[in-house]
Amino acid sequence: MDMVRAEIISVGTELLLGQITDTNATHICQRLAEAGVAVFYRQTVGDNQARVQEAFRNAWQRADLVLFTGGLGPTEDDLTKESVAAELGVPMVEHQASMRHLEAYFARRNRTLTPNQRRQAMLPEGADPIPNALGSAPGVLWNRDGRIIAMVPGVPREMRGMVDEAILPALRARGWIADEVIRSRVVRTIGVGEGALEDQIKDLLKTSNPTIAPLVHQGEVHLRVTGRGKPGEVDRLLDAGERLLRDRLGDVVYGLDTTTLEGAIGVLLAASGKTVAVAESCTGGLIGHRLTRIAGSSAYFLGGVVAYANDVKSDMLGVPKETLAAHGAVSSETAEAMARGVRERLGADYGLSVTGIAGPGGGTDEKPVGLVYLSLANGGGVRIVRQDYGTEPGREGIKYNASQAALNLLRRALLERKPS
Ligand code: ATP
Ligand code: MG
Repeated sequence: MDMVRAEIISVGTELLLGQITDTNATHICQRLAEAGVAVFYRQTVGDNQARVQEAFRNAWQRADLVLFTGGLGPTEDDLTKESVAAELGVPMVEHQASMRHLEAYFARRNRTLTPNQRRQAMLPEGADPIPNALGSAPGVLWNRDGRIIAMVPGVPREMRGMVDEAILPALRARGWIADEVIRSRVVRTIGVGEGALEDQIKDLLKTSNPTIAPLVHQGEVHLRVTGRGKPGEVDRLLDAGERLLRDRLGDVVYGLDTTTLEGAIGVLLAASGKTVAVAESCTGGLIGHRLTRIAGSSAYFLGGVVAYANDVKSDMLGVPKETLAAHGAVSSETAEAMARGVRERLGADYGLSVTGIAGPGGGTDEKPVGLVYLSLANGGGVRIVRQDYGTEPGREGIKYNASQAALNLLRRALLERKPS
């Protein structure tokens, strides 16, 4: 059959007020994409019958599958079923088995079944309930004129259960799940800005299967490779896309999918048998925090000094007072002395340091907000990097960017010492 067109309608005023994020729709989109079902539209509508009817009317004109989430519960403002029934001119009828499930559900909890609660066992005539193993409100699966209307609760775990156990099987039974799947892989890069990266891969961004699309994400750029094909073949498309990117970008690629920068560094450090210690000024411990987010980091992370004040830089790290006086706390000289100092005092193979101006105050013409010096010392010598992030990222952003640059400095050094 031709491509199935699905549409998702999320119901709930709290979604429109911005009080909750529509993670249900995200989840449903992911599951449908994996199954090769195309989602052409998504709508979000409040708990208002006229507008739920209107949203449904639009969707029913263009979709084979209309999938609602939310508005199935017992309260007055839960009116998804009623709205669809009204729009199609179908009466609501009581479903016996669902009513018995409700009665048992309430009896077990010693709660009384109010008339409002009983509404949960009412269904549009002709629709089937989806049993709710985790809560009280059943879902709805309605075959109508060769197409499907489905409704699942707003409670995320109930929604997920019904999508997997009732809706996807129903689509499969109809032959609506193509034997093709859509799958993605994320190739994560660090150290090259979005514009420069895009310039390097301009031609690759035009390919069609797999497609490659850049996503900027907290101081790094992710390249999403998406392929469409038979389950046994689609991974080969993703492999090919990944290979193209790695050939073009080399070490700028640090990992795939959910791999984090600190996770990638953990693997390199563990393999090298080397240790690291950090001396942090403007990042205030962020680098140590990120390194220790990785289980097993005790194998390579020795510790750190958050050296914010000048006295701490000199007393704890041995930064010469003359260096601080002559060049200032934010200088390549201080960064270098911090890296050497922490390496020596903690007995690590690598000493990594950061000093900079996170703002918003404290900048000067000569040393503006966003100026950061990073340094890495090992037995062989020392490297120093100067970064100028400007004021735009804000205090948090400058701190995070500085931690990214520091971790990447360490990563590069570890890659270079690898024999392969
Ligand atoms: P029911 O779950 O009985 O169908 P409902 O969907 O209207 O009723 P609510 O009482 O509005 O449920 O919400 C129940 C829980 O589900 C809340 O914690 C709410 O934050 C969450 N929720 C509802 N809709 C969504 C959504 N689209 N994405 C993520 N969470 C949601
Ligand atoms: Mg609701």
